[in-house]
Amino acid sequence: INPMRVYNFSAGPAMLPEPVLAQAQAELLDWNGSGMSVMEVSHRSKEFVACAAEAEATLREVMEIPDNYKVLFLQGGAFGQFAGVPMNLSAEGDEVDFLLTGDWSAKGIKEAAKYVTTNALVDEKPGNYTKVPPAGSYQVNPNAAYLHYTPNETIRGVEFGYVPDTGDVPLVADLSSTILSRPMDVSKFGVIFAGAQKNMGPSGMCVVIVRDDLIGRARTITPSPWDYAQMAAADSMLNTPPTFGWYLLGLVYKWVQAQGGLTAMGERNKAKADALYGFIDGSDFYSNPVQPDSRSWMNVPFLIAKPELDKTFVAQAADAGLTNLAGHRSVGGMRASIYNAMPLEGVQALIDFMKEFERTNG
Ligand code: PLP
Repeated sequence: INPMRVYNFSAGPAMLPEPVLAQAQAELLDWNGSGMSVMEVSHRSKEFVACAAEAEATLREVMEIPDNYKVLFLQGGAFGQFAGVPMNLSAEGDEVDFLLTGDWSAKGIKEAAKYVTTNALVDEKPGNYTKVPPAGSYQVNPNAAYLHYTPNETIRGVEFGYVPDTGDVPLVADLSSTILSRPMDVSKFGVIFAGAQKNMGPSGMCVVIVRDDLIGRARTITPSPWDYAQMAAADSMLNTPPTFGWYLLGLVYKWVQAQGGLTAMGERNKAKADALYGFIDGSDFYSNPVQPDSRSWMNVPFLIAKPELDKTFVAQAADAGLTNLAGHRSVGGMRASIYNAMPLEGVQALIDFMKEFERTNG
C-alpha cells in the first residue's frame, strides 16, 4: 500500500484496488490517446462504447454469466432497484416474497410495498438480525411474482452461506455488498442487482444481471431508464450513463481477473474473515453478535466490552491509519468492512491495533 494511503474500512463508498486508482490517475488527462479525460468523452463515441462493452465482457467472464442473461448498467443505485424490480417483474395486485434478514431487506420491503403485496417469509428482526434462516425452513409461495433476499446484509454483517431454492419462483438477490467476493452460480437467479460502490467502483451505478425471460414485462409506469427491455435494447445507453464509473468498473473487473478471478477472491476473503473473527472470538474484550454460520465475509461488526470507549477506539484507529471503523449509526459499536480491495495486511494491521487497544484499555 502506498504510504500516503490508509486502510479504509468504510462500508461504501469503499476502498478500491490501488493499481486501479493508479491507472485511472495515469490516464486522467489523456485517455486512450484522445487528449481528453474519459469523463470528457462522448458516451456515443466509438472509444467509449468499446470501453463499456469491454467492461461488460470482463464481468461476464469473471462471473461466468450465462448467455441468456443481460447485464445492465443503471442509475439510481441499488435502492432504485427496490422499486425497479417490482416495476419490471410484477403486475398490480401481485404478491412478492421476502426474506427479512436485516436493514436492507427491510428497506426493500418498504419500497416494494408501494407496488405489490409483500410477504416476509421469515422475520429475523426480533433476534436483532443476527442470523439467516436455515435452508428449507421457510415455504416459498408458489404464486409469488418473485422472492427478494439480501445475500449479505451490510449493516449487521449477516450473510447467507447458501442460495435459497425457490423452485419456479424467480429469485432476486440484492448482491450490493458481496458481489465478486466469491464464486457463485448466476443461473440460480432471476435478477441480481448490486450498487457499485463496495466491490466494483465509485458510487452512481447499479449493475443489474437479469434473465432474458424476465425482460419485457415492465409496467407502463416504469421510467424508461429503469425499464429492463428498453435499457437492454439500448446497451444501457438510452440516456447518458455515468461514464467515469462505468470505465472504472471495467478496470476493477480486470483487476479481479488478474487476481485469479472469483476463486482466488473467495480464498483471500475467507482468509481475511477467518483471521478477524478468529481474533474476536478468542478475546474477552471484543465480541461479534452474529451466529457463526451466518457471518459476513465482507462486513464484520464488533463490540467492545467497554462501549464508553467506542469513540476513543475509532479515533485512535484512524490515527493509526485504520479509518472508518465506526458501526452504522443505527447500531453503534464498530464495523470493519473488508471488501475485495482490502488486503490481508490491512486486516492484520487492524488485529494488531485491536490487541494493543485491549492491552491498554482492557
Ligand atoms: N442494498 C445493500 C445491501 C446495501 O448495502 C446498500 C447500500 O449500502 C443498498 C442496497 C443501497 O445501495 P445504493 O446506496 O447504491 O442505492
